[in-house]
Amino acid sequence: MKIVKYPHPALRAKCRPLTTLEEGERTAAAQMLELMYKAEGLGLAAPQVALDYQMIVINFAGDPNEKDAELVAVNPVIVEGKGAIKDREGCLSFPDLYQDVRRFKTVKAQYYGLDGDLHEMVCSDLAARIWQHEIDHLNGVLFIDKMGPLARLGSRKDLEQLIDEFE
Ligand code: ZN
Repeated sequence: MKIVKYPHPALRAKCRPLTTLEEGERTAAAQMLELMYKAEGLGLAAPQVALDYQMIVINFAGDPNEKDAELVAVNPVIVEGKGAIKDREGCLSFPDLYQDVRRFKTVKAQYYGLDGDLHEMVCSDLAARIWQHEIDHLNGVLFIDKMGPLARLGSRKDLEQLIDEFE
């Protein structure tokens, strides 16, 4: 398993919901967490490792030692969003690209845990940003799609370079 970079086609796929949780998905979640920590990220979505189902891993603290901040979410959705805030955002599939992106300030997320139970989380700011960014991935939506015109312009060189490297 490895993190795929833009413009890998897996990043544009719409992921299918999981109806059962088997050994394979649990192993994938553990491997995704490991990759995320190695890359010093805060979140990683299944399509970023070329998997086609709705699973994301997060550590809100970005610290592998803070297990309380760690979470695996299956079939996650944002059920409510409030307010708006623009802040710097990056993505492990776009190394070295950081731009301002406008997001909901506060969200309510619902997801299934590896325990098979439905969970709900209400959070704001960075945590809310991570939820929105990662859930977007499951719908084939990338943070470059959410950038305003200036951020988009500022990303052009990085994107061209990524496309060159991919080819
Ligand atoms: Zn991302």
